[in-house]
Order: sequence, then C-alpha cells, then structure tokens
Amino acid sequence: MNSASRRNGGEPDNTTQPHLPEGIKLMVMRIISIVALALLMTGVCQAEEKQPTKPVRLLMVSQSAGFRHGSVTRKNNNLSPAERAIKEMGVTSGLYRADCTQDCAKDFTKAKLQQYDIVLFYTTGKLPIKSEDLDYFFNDWLKQKGHGFIGTHSAADTYKDYKPYWDMIGGSFDGHPWGANSTVTITVHDRNHPVSKPWGNEFTIKDEIYKFRNWQPEKVHVLMSLNMAKTKLKKPYHVPIAWVKEYGQGRVLHMSLGHREDVWTNSTYQSSLLGGVRWMLHLAEGDATPNPELSKAEEAKAAKDAGK
Ligand SMILES: [Zn+2]
Repeated sequence: MNSASRRNGGEPDNTTQPHLPEGIKLMVMRIISIVALALLMTGVCQAEEKQPTKPVRLLMVSQSAGFRHGSVTRKNNNLSPAERAIKEMGVTSGLYRADCTQDCAKDFTKAKLQQYDIVLFYTTGKLPIKSEDLDYFFNDWLKQKGHGFIGTHSAADTYKDYKPYWDMIGGSFDGHPWGANSTVTITVHDRNHPVSKPWGNEFTIKDEIYKFRNWQPEKVHVLMSLNMAKTKLKKPYHVPIAWVKEYGQGRVLHMSLGHREDVWTNSTYQSSLLGGVRWMLHLAEGDATPNPELSKAEEAKAAKDAGK
C-alpha cells in the first residue's frame, strides 16, 4: 500500500505525517535551525568565560563623607540601588559574593581586608579610615596578585588631596561640566578589553560626566573617552571615561559612569564591571599598557572641536 492510498481512506496509520504546506515546513525548519544555532552559540560563549573555582569576595564601600548620591542612599534600612546591583551581579555571574559597608571605621581595616579579593568604592570625601589601614591597603594589599580596586563614579571625588589615593586611581574629581541629565557620546578605544568590549565602538548614555585633575596619562590605559565632536557641550580637554592600570601585582579599574540610578540597572554597564572583575581575577585577558599618546591625541581633537 502506498502512502497515497493510506491517506485516501485506508486503515488509520499514526505514523502518517500531517499535511503542511511546503512554505510552512520550510519556515519551521528555519526556526529550528536558528534556535539550535543560538543554543550552540550560548554554549560556546559560556565555555569561553572562565569561572573562579568558587566565588571570590568583594567589599563594596559606599560611605559618603562628602556629597551623597541617590544611587548609594539606603532607604528604610534597605540596600541602595548601586549596592543591590553589585550584590545581584555577583550572584548571577557566579564570580563573587559582595559585602556592602557604609562604615569604613568598622569595616575597612587590615584585619577585615584579609577576607577580600576585590574592593569597590562609590564614595566621596575624606573617609574615616585609619592611616595604618590605608597604608596597608596601598602598599601591600592592593599590590598582591588577584587583588583589585574598582572605583565607580565618585570614587575620584574621594581623598582628593591625598596623593597615595589619586596616584593609585590615576586622577581626581575636578567638577562635572556635563550634569546628570546630559546625553553624551562615548568612544570606545580598546574594543578587546573585557571592561570596554560590551559597549561596542561607540554609544550614547545619559549620565553626569566628571573632568579630572591630577590626571596621569603616563600611568593608565584609557579604554573609553567622551566624544567631544558628538557631544553638545564642548570643552578643550580630554575627558577619559574608563581606564585600567596595573598596581604592583594588583589591578585597578576606574569607571566614571554611575551617577544615575538607571545606569546601575543598565545591562551593558553591569557587563562592563563584571568584565573588570574577570580581568582582575586573571580570568579574562586585557591590555593595561599605558597609552599617553591617546590622551594627547584626544586633547588635541577636543581643543579643535571646542574651537580653541
Ligand atoms: Zn555624581
């Protein structure tokens, strides 16, 4: 019995395929292959991202000895928006577990630092940290391999007159000509570094943008800068947005973005910070060779764009 006669009223046969028009069949096949490819690619990407054998420990410090940002303000005893983001990112990525403090006198001590691999600051002003604990942090803790410091947004508005601090970060806060409602364009210079890779070649974002003094282009590797030509308010100087540097055997990342609460829930911003953690833990490669020539070229471009 051929299949045609089966279909035309022969005995019931459960193996018979339902009639689908060729166009629909083709579409179903296409969808299946796209889904299969997507699953395969996800698998490949996950396989490429190395994980620590167990989550490391991160200490997030968001004490405001100067200006207090909404992003680090705790309400009704709940963690602030930035603290929640950092904690959740650690759990979902499997990279770290975060403890959050706004009490440096109690929690930023030589003894407590022994529990941590990474320290993140979203701070302002002169923090109440004992000088021997600060000395230990700069001269010993941060110089150890696998240790890292992440400064987000106002970290550069902290210890502005204390050289070991700005010398460690690479610059200090010198005002924010671009206020919190500014939409700016950012150029990504290093498209391979795990911190800057998630952003693509260029992007626009609404956030407050700092300018810096004590800026040390000869000691840092700039990853992203303000694109003066494409930003409304033009100033005749280089405005770095994110940079990295080696510090002894430890590693430092400064990320200028993060004033606004909505930046902390931006998935690209989160991927960028997680890229920084991977880089600090030597789970992802990233160049940290100082690139002062880039700062010089950006400075010249900005001066031209600002008509100076
Ligand atoms: Zn701010």
